Amino acid sequence: MGYKTISLKMPTGYDDGRLRKKIEHLFHIDDFNFSIVNKSLDARNKSNINWELRVMVSSDAFKTEKPFVPELQISNKKRGKKVTVIGSGPAGFFSAFVLQKAGFNVTLIERGTDVKKRTIDIDNFEKTGDFTSNSNYSFGEGGAGTFSDGKLTSRSKKISLEKRFILQSYVDAGAPEEILYMTHPHVGSDNLKIIVRNLRRQFTDLGGTVLFETTMTDFNSVDGNVKSVITDKGTHDSEYLLIAPGHSSYDTYRLMMNNGVQFRNKNFAIGSRMEHYQEVINVAQWGKKSLPGVKAAEYRLTSKGQNREQVYSFCMCPGGIIVPAGATPESNIVNGMSNYQRENEFANAACVATVDINRLLNKEVSPMETLDWMEKLENSFYKFSGGYKAPFCSIKDFISGKTSSSFVDTSYPLGIIQAPLWELLPN
Ligand SMILES: Cc1cc2nc3c(=O)[nH]c(=O)nc-3n(C[C@H](O)[C@H](O)[C@H](O)COP(=O)(O)OP(=O)(O)OC[C@H]3O[C@@H](n4cnc5c(N)ncnc54)[C@H](O)[C@@H]3O)c2cc1C
Repeated sequence: MGYKTISLKMPTGYDDGRLRKKIEHLFHIDDFNFSIVNKSLDARNKSNINWELRVMVSSDAFKTEKPFVPELQISNKKRGKKVTVIGSGPAGFFSAFVLQKAGFNVTLIERGTDVKKRTIDIDNFEKTGDFTSNSNYSFGEGGAGTFSDGKLTSRSKKISLEKRFILQSYVDAGAPEEILYMTHPHVGSDNLKIIVRNLRRQFTDLGGTVLFETTMTDFNSVDGNVKSVITDKGTHDSEYLLIAPGHSSYDTYRLMMNNGVQFRNKNFAIGSRMEHYQEVINVAQWGKKSLPGVKAAEYRLTSKGQNREQVYSFCMCPGGIIVPAGATPESNIVNGMSNYQRENEFANAACVATVDINRLLNKEVSPMETLDWMEKLENSFYKFSGGYKAPFCSIKDFISGKTSSSFVDTSYPLGIIQAPLWELLPN
């Protein structure tokens, strides 16, 4: 059996039968198999939008050997050392999973609930406005990564083996196969709920332990070496501690800072979600409201004005919804997500500006002060709306800095309240 890899353009509405015919025609063979190696949409010419494919064809008619694809090597030894990992988000889970595969004795500790209970608590929050601490869009099994849009994006070029390992693990746990070859892979929040549960089962089948509804509240160390981890449910002896608490666990960051763990500020981004009807985006990108074989159009915008902070779109969710993503009862922040089919009538994306906190506040700011500042900002939106209604304004009003009376339709489940966002957000 030999192999050939070819580049092809296919119309957006093609199916496997048509692709097969094209390969038959190209190579004059009919006994072959094929698999897609890469797939991306070329929409530069709106009157001729195509899928661009790299396809690997295998047939006895070819002589070339199959290209070697390296895999992440995880050598399993009986190491017997106890490792505690804090946080079951993507960072914590995959650390725990790989360490368990490598022969460590891993306990994964998660302050939130398992994904089943978490789903119920989030549904209830969105229906009633009753927020559940430790069981929300930020905290719970799978971390913020479970109720996320599930776009798998990394701009790092140096982690191709790790990336492939993670994508393959998702597929083994039930993700659509196409995430292995799509240029912009998307899992969907609906699929992620099932995947994180299946991944957890794989981890426990390997001998790993998961403790839900357990919060790390402190740890003991001697001469800089961790000896035990203290939780609200008891103490665990541990030779290694890996803390992956995500973005929102401010109490955990404060606890680490108070324990002498070294921190420094990095630039971060703050902004708003912009929401449009998906059809508006489809027309802008494709010149038409729909395209057979493509779910919903995406966009990515960036603007680097002189002497201004960089402004860019981020985490664009085609056919998605805006969700209340606060981790604590008095914070009111939003994020975006979409299910696999991306079939909601709205599209949303964050429009954010890079924040250099020292420059913004015009002084040397410590990491602890940065946390306080961010928390205060998140709480200010809660105070403004008196709850979880999302403060909103039109993009036109934001630019002009004036409120005009306007009605907007939104996907956000807890209601919206008109607000001068140009005043509520830092300059
Ligand atoms: C709605 C939404 C949509 C998103 N969409 C995307 C997207 O499309 N693409 C993308 O790349 N990113 C997206 N993100 C961001 C992405 O989810 C995060 O970047 C990612 O989850 C970070 O992974 P993490 O493992 O570092 O932390 P997290 O996923 O935040 O996980 C941290 C975990 O640690 C637990 N924890 C914290 N402190 C403690 C403690 N003291 N004790 C025990 N447990 C603790 C938390 O409960 C949490 O489960 C989205 C986020 C949200 C909320």
